[in-house]
Amino acid sequence: MRSHLLNDTTAERYCRTVTEGVERVAAKLATTDRPFTGVGVDALAPVIEGIDLDKPLHDTAAVLDELEDVYLRDAIYFHHPRYLAHLNCPVVIPAVLGEAVLSAVNSSLDTWDQSAGGTLIERKLIDWTNERVGFGPAADGVFTSGGSQSNLQALLLAREEAKPGPGGWQGPADNARLRIFASEVSHFSVKKSAKLLGLGQDAVVSVPVDADKRMQTMALARELERCKADGLVPMAVVATAGTTDFGSIDPLPETAELCEQYGAWMHVDAAYGCGLLVSRKRRALLDGIERADSVTVDFHKSFFQPVSSSAVLVRDGATLRHATYHAEYLNPRRMVTERIPNQVDKSLQTTRRFDALKLWMTLRTMGADGVGQLFDEVCDLAEEGWRLLAADPRYDVVVEPRLSTLVYRYIPEAVTDPAEIDRANLYARKALFASGDAVVAGTKVGGRHYLKFTLLNPETTVADIAAVLDLIAGHAEQYLGESLDRVAS
Ligand SMILES: *Cc1c(COP(=O)(O)O)cnc(C)c1O
Repeated sequence: MRSHLLNDTTAERYCRTVTEGVERVAAKLATTDRPFTGVGVDALAPVIEGIDLDKPLHDTAAVLDELEDVYLRDAIYFHHPRYLAHLNCPVVIPAVLGEAVLSAVNSSLDTWDQSAGGTLIERKLIDWTNERVGFGPAADGVFTSGGSQSNLQALLLAREEAKPGPGGWQGPADNARLRIFASEVSHFSVKKSAKLLGLGQDAVVSVPVDADKRMQTMALARELERCKADGLVPMAVVATAGTTDFGSIDPLPETAELCEQYGAWMHVDAAYGCGLLVSRKRRALLDGIERADSVTVDFHKSFFQPVSSSAVLVRDGATLRHATYHAEYLNPRRMVTERIPNQVDKSLQTTRRFDALKLWMTLRTMGADGVGQLFDEVCDLAEEGWRLLAADPRYDVVVEPRLSTLVYRYIPEAVTDPAEIDRANLYARKALFASGDAVVAGTKVGGRHYLKFTLLNPETTVADIAAVLDLIAGHAEQYLGESLDRVAS
């Protein structure tokens, strides 16, 4: 059994085993002709149910053969140009190499004595990102598991900063007075965070958006004023830089003004829009982000990094103290004066992956411009896709994209019942998924069902978009035809 442990004596076996797996995946990537096989839960569940975990196969090739059946064959492949659904990117090779290195060495980024150079590399990448944001030398941050955790941590800091001095805080009753302002199309992790932070049920004030799905500054000002008048505490404003559904970017400079005026913490959720930090063409869309108190960036969305790779950034590093606890066994207080860098002092996690290495390998291999160019390509593609949709009488498209999403709905000329149109669009999405020809997402706009492309693959072409739109129209028409038959019979 010791031969399975990775160490000096098994280095050769490690190389062979991992290569075997890499070769399988490489062969798979080279031959997948669809993003998905279309397998259903009912077909796949028994295959996985049927595996007896107490009967190991003892042989890598056999385990990989089995993996083909339980996972690889039917996985959803984000590298395929017709995977157009969620905020998943095809990954860049240097980052995958980083992933292989970091899991083999298995550093843990909670303390210096479990990571050494890993800690310094992560810190350098945080500094690099902060510089791109436009923060000053006091800025800091830490890698997280994803945008949801980054938002939670940012709002934790905001909550602590919103509390008045010692003695002024009466506990839960005061928590109930805290308010977070976020647009009606902000990410649901804002609400989840409010719950986790023990805030009241009405803690998150939903601010309406304009026709471009950007938070309305006037409405935000009104809500902040009302908050003050009601004797409540404006804890934070969350501006989204790249909403999940529309890629819309809230007005950052105006939000910053209001935050200053009302003493609210400004958080920018740039989980999606962070790719603009390295864009040569579109960086200006983030102007004003440098005035934020905290920023969420998801490298695993618009930096083409494997899951997970994300960070929370703060303009004033001292605020991270709200996440600091000392344990004698791990990060005793004296280490602070000894200037031993322990990242656990800044993190919600303890044991933590060296995810920063993936970004490091990416920047050292391709450079920031290389990543930015890929993101610009998908934003360019979205612009072309929008023109295509806007000119297509079969479709209603919601907003002209700032980033790389397109939200649209099939609208048959002959059908006027909006509920029937909803059903046709829902059916088309399902049927497309079951065919495996393409994967698209869906969402609701104004109570109606829409379909969504999230374009993050520079290999996707306008021809792919056109072809998928034809497929959707075909499925929707089939549904409507059958539904007419049902009515007739
Ligand atoms: C994806 C997303 C999140 C959540 O990030 P995860 O990495 O999935 O946890 C938060 N905010 C926005 C705007 C997002 O698009």
